[in-house]
Amino acid sequence: MDRDKRASDRLPRLVPGTGLVPFPPTESWDDWEEYDAKAWPERVKRRYRLVPTTCFNCEAGCGLLAYVDKDSGRVRRFEGNPEHPGSRGRNCAKGPATLNQMYDPERILHPLRRAGPRGGGEWERVSWEDALQDIASRIRTALQEDRHDEIIYHVGRPGEDGFIDRILRSWGVDGHNSHTNICSAGARTGYAMWMGYDRPSADFANARFILLLSAQLESGHYFNPHAQRIIEARQAGAQVATIDPRLSNTASMSDHWLSPWPGTEAAMLLAIATRLIEWDAVDHEFMRRWVNWEASLAARAPERPRTYEGFLELLRETYADYTIESAAAETGVDAERIEAVARGIAGAGSRFASHTWRAAGSGNLGGWQVARCLFFLHVLTGSVGTEGGTSPSAWDKFKPDHWNMPPPSNRWNELIWPAEFPLSHYEMSYLLPHFLKEGRGRLEVYFTRVYNPVWTNPDGFTWLEALTDEDKVGLHVALSPTWSETAWFADYVLPMGVGAERHDTHSYETHAARWLGFRQPVLRVAGERAGERYERTYEANPGEVWEENEFWIDLSWRIDPDGSLGVRQWYESPTDPSRPVSVDEYYSWMFDNSVPGLPEQAGQEGLTPLEYMRKYGAFEIDRDRYLLNEEAAGADQPGVEVDGERKSGFVSPSRLLEWHSETLESWKWADAAIPTYLKSHVYWRDLDLEGDERILLPIFRLPTLIHTRSGNAKYLYEISHGHPLWMNSIDADQLGFDTGDLVRITTDIGYFVMRAWRTEGIRPGVVAASHHMGRWRLEAGMGNERWSSALVDLRRHDGGWLLRHKTGIEPFRSEDPDSERIWWRDPGVHQNLAFPVHPDPVSGMHAWHQRVTLGHASPEDRYGDVFVDTARSHDIYREWMDRTRPGPGPGGLRRPRWLTRPLPPVPEAYRT
Ligand code: SF4
Repeated sequence: MDRDKRASDRLPRLVPGTGLVPFPPTESWDDWEEYDAKAWPERVKRRYRLVPTTCFNCEAGCGLLAYVDKDSGRVRRFEGNPEHPGSRGRNCAKGPATLNQMYDPERILHPLRRAGPRGGGEWERVSWEDALQDIASRIRTALQEDRHDEIIYHVGRPGEDGFIDRILRSWGVDGHNSHTNICSAGARTGYAMWMGYDRPSADFANARFILLLSAQLESGHYFNPHAQRIIEARQAGAQVATIDPRLSNTASMSDHWLSPWPGTEAAMLLAIATRLIEWDAVDHEFMRRWVNWEASLAARAPERPRTYEGFLELLRETYADYTIESAAAETGVDAERIEAVARGIAGAGSRFASHTWRAAGSGNLGGWQVARCLFFLHVLTGSVGTEGGTSPSAWDKFKPDHWNMPPPSNRWNELIWPAEFPLSHYEMSYLLPHFLKEGRGRLEVYFTRVYNPVWTNPDGFTWLEALTDEDKVGLHVALSPTWSETAWFADYVLPMGVGAERHDTHSYETHAARWLGFRQPVLRVAGERAGERYERTYEANPGEVWEENEFWIDLSWRIDPDGSLGVRQWYESPTDPSRPVSVDEYYSWMFDNSVPGLPEQAGQEGLTPLEYMRKYGAFEIDRDRYLLNEEAAGADQPGVEVDGERKSGFVSPSRLLEWHSETLESWKWADAAIPTYLKSHVYWRDLDLEGDERILLPIFRLPTLIHTRSGNAKYLYEISHGHPLWMNSIDADQLGFDTGDLVRITTDIGYFVMRAWRTEGIRPGVVAASHHMGRWRLEAGMGNERWSSALVDLRRHDGGWLLRHKTGIEPFRSEDPDSERIWWRDPGVHQNLAFPVHPDPVSGMHAWHQRVTLGHASPEDRYGDVFVDTARSHDIYREWMDRTRPGPGPGGLRRPRWLTRPLPPVPEAYRT
């Protein structure tokens, strides 16, 4: 690990008898003593076992150290793990709030089964054995009756790499459903069409110019690991530019803030590209070697000679209309600002780093082209895979092999992968209730895991209608440590460990290196260090809280107790096939066999690889990973010939960077086959801006809240508990709003009521509300966290659904005295309910931005009201489905084979 850069070398702390020291040294982690900060001014010593684990509160997977009190056995706090290569000892506010989640007085500690009608709020405690047997027998019957497509696992935050793959493969189902299409599918598609890889890995720390189309310093993807490296680059002299209609914290810290009309970002990026070409700030050697210019010429200008110069000429002609001036007119950003960013990129050359995540790519119809146009700037400047540039994600991510992995399934589930979206990234998860409504299928067993579609997805009332219809959903199992709006409509709620109560492995592209993180149940590990012995993690967890790995193993065993279905074989212990594999056996195999360098490093310390990972919580595999496309490829390896040498290249169909995408062309999207600007569904020139129409941005994140997983984190809600509608003062004056006024925001399917907040921090014509707030429950004492949710009334009204707050957040009595000290009151407004689905016909991404009208609330309106007509929402769904260009594509394929998808089935399953 990079011991020079670790925070442990710099941040001092007060320790008895030693004065100020940095992070506790690893040799003291078994017995660490320090003063109790809460006892100050008395000097009270406390002794701890420090157990590393990883944070589960966003996708960055930062290292945490649990301070387990040796006297009480309780975790007293979480801090950063200085041994973690990604986060280097640092965390955001959400990491330490893991403590609140562990000791949440309202968490679910025992399995529950509904006792009355689904959603009726009657629950009974049930044994794990009864729950497992019931669920297993339904799955077993479905498998025996060839109803595999009726089993779907729907995950929000996975937080792990590969374990669930084994489960679904072993059952032979194509049932993985993720949240990607409400999150990042737009950007992924844009990147994939260039290089096959679907995400960027920016080498921020070594960049000279950084361009962000996301709020990377506060809440962007891998944000704490990225933020600390962006700050390092700035300290070394790099400039940062942020393109965002809203003045995010990131924009406010940038050298350049460009606030365009939402959905016009691609026009600005193409104008910058044009300038780079004009200035000849182009890395021609890189372009000549790595861009598919010959194929591009053949496809788009077959009459021309196939020369690189001819390709440059084609680029000039293609983008001639994208001038800085035209971009200024289209985006509403001053030409000088766009020009300044172009100059910064030109000056940085190969040390130009960028990122886009959610934001424009997730807000707009055609948003995927924003990422495609952004990456075009890297292709031009040769800043692909370079030090200080931007690499493909997979170069900086390590996915180990898993023990005894079953083969891929031979099925294709059209409830998840429908013919209308052959290029989607990934599953069309948020359309599931509409598909069920249309009679495309039914579900026998539906698992939701770290996922809350009723709240998180657009059109939540349609979800609610589907989940309460037992003909459509036979059994809904919510795997969750807490209540949620979705768990309320389940048949079983099975309590799973929070981030510090489970095992997972993961690795993310935080910088130009590869590392593996090991999440572990800290009370189990602390107990084992103290000499306790556990067979299962639930023996150390609170109540009857299980970890998911053991749940899936036991469930699979019960699906096939005698092995006749071929499932059990994948779970038999390697040392004793009569019993299920243990997590120690599972991860021992992985660390012994598939993590390069780990056995050797562990051996140097006299540890087994598993002991090493339990001790440090992470392992760095390698670093300084640049220009991997230039690596030699053997004749039997995938590769491409470049200047007479066989190279690894990228993972696009040509293994080159594809300016013209033959895939897009042959799958009916010839009009979008090159980086281009597509008009958004919220295109500003189509709006009545003189009247009351505006564009709503509903997806910005707060740095201190997690999608729907921070409701039980009192530290975080004490910081963030307001949900205003950002409105520029110009709009506020024009429409007659002042801060605090109630605004009725009308969408295509209903309305919601919020309070206005006048600000200069957003572009006029655009309003915004953060994505996090608006949690609710239907019963006073249960159903959601009272730290964060409103008690609501939900009823049929005027041909639709009306949700109305009965009370806001109030103090309550619990075993945590802080619950009586709650002083914040605003639960926020559940705006997602009022958004129809907007599936982008290429990426499948839900285009989150909304064209809305703003009006003063009527006398009957109340803060927090949400009204939705779900019949209308189904009509809008149909309208957007009409934009699709269904498969099959060339060769009768359902989807291009090269385009990634979770759990790809066998090749034959791709054929219709
Ligand atoms: S950025 Fe914050 S929430 Fe995300 S993993 Fe790191 S500490 Fe946890």
